Parts: sequence; structure tokens; C-alpha cells
Amino acid sequence: MKIASVDVFVLKSPLDFPFAFSQGWVTQRSATLVRITSDEGHVGWGEAFAQGLEPPEIAAAAIEHALKPILIGADALSPAVLWQNMYVKTRDYGRKGSVVAAISAVDIALWDMAGQILGQPVFTLLGGAHRAQVQPYATGFYRLEGQGEVDRLAEEARQHKAAGFKAMKVKLGFGLDDDLTVMAAIVDALSDPSIELMVDTNHAYGRSEALILGKALEAYNMRWYEEPVVPEDVEGYAELRHKLSVPIAGGENEHTPFGFHAYFKAGAVDVAQPDIASCGGITAARDIAALAHAAGVAVNPHVWGSAVAQAASLQYIATLPTPHASLFAKQPLLEYDRSDHPFRQKLISNPWTLEDGMIAIPDGPGLGINVNMDVVEEYAV
Ligand code: MG
Repeated sequence: MKIASVDVFVLKSPLDFPFAFSQGWVTQRSATLVRITSDEGHVGWGEAFAQGLEPPEIAAAAIEHALKPILIGADALSPAVLWQNMYVKTRDYGRKGSVVAAISAVDIALWDMAGQILGQPVFTLLGGAHRAQVQPYATGFYRLEGQGEVDRLAEEARQHKAAGFKAMKVKLGFGLDDDLTVMAAIVDALSDPSIELMVDTNHAYGRSEALILGKALEAYNMRWYEEPVVPEDVEGYAELRHKLSVPIAGGENEHTPFGFHAYFKAGAVDVAQPDIASCGGITAARDIAALAHAAGVAVNPHVWGSAVAQAASLQYIATLPTPHASLFAKQPLLEYDRSDHPFRQKLISNPWTLEDGMIAIPDGPGLGINVNMDVVEEYAV
């Protein structure tokens, strides 16, 4: 069976209320989707990560001009072989960023299509599921004005708790004074030490400020401290991990097993966060998980995309072993973005819901989703 067609869709939707993380203002939500079809009519969907400031057209152009010629006519059931072909042929101008995000989208679509062909969920093709459901954590606490929003953010914490979330991630990196005021107010508003907290500065600080913030965070029930420094500062990660008791997380801006290998070799992180739609897809994420396992590092994927990327993340989470097995070992969590996104869930006809604070991992063929073509066309540009 051969690959017959590769179609790319760039989706965009402006936001009524732009919001900020530490690196800038997000004014629109966007996605780069790819649809791959076999010569017998099987269809697979994939997505390239488009973070809030990233033009989705870059990955779309890489798929259209660099990857499509490699794919058309190739064996439809060889995602890992095609991953090598795509990576090697883009190595001299790719390796990181949007080109690898493009490979990710294609790879996810190939695994989805393989699941459609074989009638099995992706997690079965990868060796089976360690779990059938996953606990989500709320990602939120974006800023509408910038600094000085402590009351609104404390109220947001109460809303996540009322919605059933037992874990939540606070966006910091808006200046140490503002960050520490916000954290104290959120902890006070929750008044529930059983709720796990994460913080994410999106690499807003250098090592010294990151250390001051980390020391202050040691007072709280922290699951992790995410992207304390820029992704290039692997030694800085290792230094902070050495000096702080708070677990250090990172990896959403790192790519491929090669990039993560450098992190693990340096002892940079307690929690590795590959984004399936950015790190090289399911094939790369599978290999990153194996490297992490050997290094004694937990894997907890990052995801901030549409339902396609979320579905890939759910399949991957099903396959992740716990790095330090015990009766009450911490299980991987699903990042559950609570910020405004006009088409994230509308994109599929079978969206997941929270039940008793958990999400069931889809067990249909491939990614287990049905993409609404009319919604794709509604938002396509
Ligand atoms: Mg992050």
C-alpha cells in the first residue's frame, strides 16, 4: 500500500481578547494540519505545533516543498523509515524548530493512517497501554494586561479547582515581584495543599533570577518548575536542578532524540516535556521516552495545539512507563490548555470530556478521532 496524497491546511482564528505569556501577546490561535491518504483510501491526520507567536505557514511550506516529494508513492506502513528519510534529507537546514514540527505533523498522520489500515489504536501499535485514562492539569493564568492582575489570577485558580482540576500550571516570568505576589495569592485562594502546582516562566530569566524564583517556590507543593532558562542553556538547567529541590522540567522547545540526548547526558531535567507535534512526532517521542527511561527521567508531554495534537498526546501518554515504579508512583498528566481557542475541540466530532477529574484515552483506530472537514474548511486560510 502506497501514500497517494499529502494535503496541508493552515488554520487561523483571531482572538477577541489577546493574552500574554512571558514571551509576547497571542492575538490569534492557529494550526498546521496535514492529511495523508493511502492509495486504498485510508486517511491519517497530523498537526505541527504552532506556538502563539509562530507563523503556521513555515511548517506548512516545509511539508509542501521538502517532505511531500519524499512521501508520495512511499510505503504507507513505514512511519519510522520515513522519519529517517525526512530527517536526513532536511538535516542540513532543519534539526530544530518548524522543520521538525513539519516532520512531526507528517509522522503523526502516518501513525494515524497505520492505525486506520490495521484497525488498531496507535498505542497498540507502539506496544500497548499502561493506562486507559489520564488526569489532566489546567494550563492557564495567562495575562490580559501584563503585571498587577493578582486578584483575577487568584479567582482563576478557584475556577480551575471548581471545575475539578487537582493540578494546575501558573504562567510566570512577568518580573520576580509580580511572580511571587501571584503565587502567594493563588496558594492562598486554593487553600488546599493537595492540589499540585506547576509554574512555567517560558524561559523569561537568566540563571540567577531563575534560582531566586526557584528557592521561593520550594515553600509550595510543586510538581515542577518549567523552562526556568532558555532551551540552549543546558548547563543552566543542570545547575538549577542541582541547587533546587523543586523538580525541573523542560523540552517543549527541544527537538528529536538528538536534542533530548544532550539534556539527559547533562542531567538537565527531572521531567522531559517533548511536544509530539514539535519534537519529531510519535516516532521521535517514542525514542525520547526510551532515552528518558534509561536516564531515570520522567516524561510528561507538552501539548498546546488543537484536538489532533491532543489526541496524539493522549496516545503517547498511554504508552509511557512510570520511571520510578511504586504502588503510588506519579503518573503522567495531560496538559489541558484552558486558554481561549475557537476551534480546538470543534475540530473533531468525538471530543473528550472530564469525568471524575479524568479523561479516557480514545481507543478507536489510529488517533481515535473523527476530524470535522467542514470545521477545517471554516478556519482554513
Ligand atoms: Mg511551557
